[in-house]
Amino acid sequence: MTFELPQLPYEMNALEPYISQKTLEFHYGKHHRTYVENLNKLIAGTKFEKMSLEEIIKETAGKAEYTGIFNNAAQAWNHAFFWKCLQKGGGKPQGAILARLEKDFGSYEKFHEEFKNAAVSQFGSGWAWLVEKDGKLAVMKTSNADTPIAHGLKPLLTVDVWEHAYYLDYQNRRADFVEAFLSNLAKYQD
Ligand code: MN
Repeated sequence: MTFELPQLPYEMNALEPYISQKTLEFHYGKHHRTYVENLNKLIAGTKFEKMSLEEIIKETAGKAEYTGIFNNAAQAWNHAFFWKCLQKGGGKPQGAILARLEKDFGSYEKFHEEFKNAAVSQFGSGWAWLVEKDGKLAVMKTSNADTPIAHGLKPLLTVDVWEHAYYLDYQNRRADFVEAFLSNLAKYQD
């Protein structure tokens, strides 16, 4: 199978002023595209050609001989998911997700604080996540390309905290980027 860069589910300028068109042109158009292209090169002629992205991630996770394939497959998956987690007018959720956050974290505000802390404290490149773990919602962070998919967990929300995700718009102010994400862009998945 040859993987394709998925369509961005909105225009490049749709997330301004929180994420600029310029950031999306680089982040989606260059970084995400490169992960997909590198993955296709790495799996050409291998057993991984016949697998889905999720299968490749699970098959290569933690195996030193497949680090390159894992990194590019996981980053291809993580970015496709991240784009779905963004929308203009997003932010605090309503309905069933809000009720679950209140039940499992005590309040939305507690969840917001925990997610933000995870995103800000991830040292170097990585991701912060809201996941479902043993039927409960939990916050986690991962380094570099690592993804909850590799650990059998179901993600409901993510924010990319690699510098390429925010440096053009926020420079070193990662906390401001994460706050804008949680308050103005977050679109929870189910
Ligand atoms: Mn990224």
